[in-house]
Amino acid sequence: MKLPSVRLYNTFTRSKEDLQPLREGVVRLYSCGPTVYRYVHVGNLRTFMLPDLLRRTLEYLGYETEQVMNITDVGHLTDDSFDRGEDKMLVAARLENRSTEEIAAHYTDAFLDDIRKLNIRPAEHYPRATQFIGRMLELVDTLIESGHAYEIDGTVYYDIASFPTYGKLSRNSTAKLMAGHRGEPDPRKRHPGDFTLWKSAGEKRLQTWPSRWGQGFPGWHIECSAMSMSILGERFDIHTGGADNVFPHHEAEIAQSEAVTGHRVVSVWMHGGLLMLSGARMAKSAGNFFRITELEEQGFDPLAFRYLALQAKYRTSLNFSTEGLAGADRALRQLRDRVAGWSSHPDQEAARVGEEWDSRFRAVIADDLDLPAAMALVAELVRSPVAPRTKADLLVSWDRVLGLDLQRSVPERALPPGAAELLAERERARAARDFETADRLREKLAEMGVSVTDTAEGQRIKR
Ligand code: AMP
Ligand code: ZN
Repeated sequence: MKLPSVRLYNTFTRSKEDLQPLREGVVRLYSCGPTVYRYVHVGNLRTFMLPDLLRRTLEYLGYETEQVMNITDVGHLTDDSFDRGEDKMLVAARLENRSTEEIAAHYTDAFLDDIRKLNIRPAEHYPRATQFIGRMLELVDTLIESGHAYEIDGTVYYDIASFPTYGKLSRNSTAKLMAGHRGEPDPRKRHPGDFTLWKSAGEKRLQTWPSRWGQGFPGWHIECSAMSMSILGERFDIHTGGADNVFPHHEAEIAQSEAVTGHRVVSVWMHGGLLMLSGARMAKSAGNFFRITELEEQGFDPLAFRYLALQAKYRTSLNFSTEGLAGADRALRQLRDRVAGWSSHPDQEAARVGEEWDSRFRAVIADDLDLPAAMALVAELVRSPVAPRTKADLLVSWDRVLGLDLQRSVPERALPPGAAELLAERERARAARDFETADRLREKLAEMGVSVTDTAEGQRIKR
């Protein structure tokens, strides 16, 4: 069976391309995951939603997917743009007076809880950086041997001048990198833009490993080259991350992985737009963030954030506000109520009508995950004269991609035996304006503990 074609925007070429999986029908992807030194905020979660939406879309269209998401538990410095600062894990360990292992375990668990709240399905693999140190050391060795890296006093730097296309992903030139460099460059670097592959550790530092250059720890960028190629091999289909990962993180990853393998490793680079708060990027370090649990404590359904995010194109930045979230929360609850009302309705369209709507849905999601267009289609369907049951069936099917728990208000699954049949019978009686029968059935249902009210959208059920 030929699978439908999917177009995705590739940051590397700055254009939409037809996805051509390396293995027929199977899409394998690597996603940059969290640094587990603090709780994730809804900005991070927006970025983690991108591969989830991608996988749900691909699976809806008939593809299989396999995802790796790394857990960074060492080596991510506080000033990662300029390869300086302290290791975030060590800062957290000091502040919380706990071991780095305890910090990592605690925030990894919290991360998994938080993604579950947003219906972000877990990846198949969650490699932790500290488990792949051996592979990282091998890569660093290979880079030194092939003239792409040099060692000074136990620290190994990547020599960006040795990789002629360095800067291609982020459209940075070596000259621009030089001009953009803030503060005192590290005098040991050949070029201020050279980045650390392996860093010599000070005496008191936790989390160090022996290497042939002495005790040290890996740079953040080499971790993703090591983990992605260890699990997915030297070629895989898609790499995702946030827009702020393009430079230096992914630029460095390309330079490392391609210098080692001698060929292109990632077919498509996808980046999610940033979540902003009052015009500034939501950031753990700046403290201007919300956790999903905080929003939940304020009475919002966590999936209202998902609904909000679906209304913006994944590549654009999105401004977060609680007013916007409140609107999304209302719209989501209303949509669930409608699905509940329509689900027990007997009226259906001919299969062709449903198929036409579904093919429109497939077309928009296959066009670089155009979820705002998909949500517009949802609104169009809701307002349309399509028969209620067909509307409900379509929305429940589309929810495999949207992930909004649209069936949550539908109590059918939890109904006592026989109640669903009585509801359907009552719906038919209502449609035929046989109110006497409808009332009799209402009483019967009440005896079973199911109370029914009639609304413009159909019967609404409370248990
Ligand atoms: P970190 O835990 O800091 O490594 O960040 C995890 C992911 O969240 C990275 O892929 C970032 O690109 C992404 N990220 C950080 N801040 C934001 C933001 N304000 N909006 C969207 N994504 C973000
Ligand atoms: Zn990464």
